[in-house]
Amino acid sequence: MTAHTPAPHHHPDPAVLVDYAAGSLREPLALAVATHLWFCRACRDTVANAEAVGGALLAALPAAGDGDIGLAEVLALLDEPAAVAVAPRAPVAADIPGPLRHYVQGALPALPWRTTTKSLATVDLTTDVPGYRVRLLRIAAGAAMPRHTHRGTEVTVVLKGGYSDELGRFAPGDVAATDPAVAHQPMADADQDCYCLAVTDAPVRLVGWLGLLLNPFVRF
Ligand SMILES: [Zn+2]
Repeated sequence: MTAHTPAPHHHPDPAVLVDYAAGSLREPLALAVATHLWFCRACRDTVANAEAVGGALLAALPAAGDGDIGLAEVLALLDEPAAVAVAPRAPVAADIPGPLRHYVQGALPALPWRTTTKSLATVDLTTDVPGYRVRLLRIAAGAAMPRHTHRGTEVTVVLKGGYSDELGRFAPGDVAATDPAVAHQPMADADQDCYCLAVTDAPVRLVGWLGLLLNPFVRF
């Protein structure tokens, strides 16, 4: 977290942090959590505590007997999960949080943005996990996204700038998780473009008259 960035107000669910600490989140979701952790000291502490508890539990396991799984095997299993092994790092000059630098290089405005609508551009990030879309979003300053719901779950982490919607105001590091029950219409702050990481496990669906017009053409 940079010195001038206030601590985030919207955090992942504590159970998600425990899953992250256990290495049991799929890569795209782990990436979203790691990106939040880059901004959020409080959640980094929660993860560190969960890891300490997990380590203590492992240390208390009985020694392996015939046919039992031993501590070495358990540790080997823990090395394998799909979660991104990303330690939060000190900020550097680039405006891309550390966990994302494995996926994209350079400054946010210079990435290969693909224009989706007048006010929205995206960059797809590649992961090896089928069923998820991982993208960076750029919402133009002052622009409102079309009101939309999701067939699945969408997890968004603000990287730069900010937006507001029915769920509140979201600034750098803030996490929003929406499911099919939530229809929202994010509006970017007026003073600068808003950059987000968005992880979805199904395409979004537009609602309202604009949605009826755009749905056959737009999948963002
Ligand atoms: Zn947090």
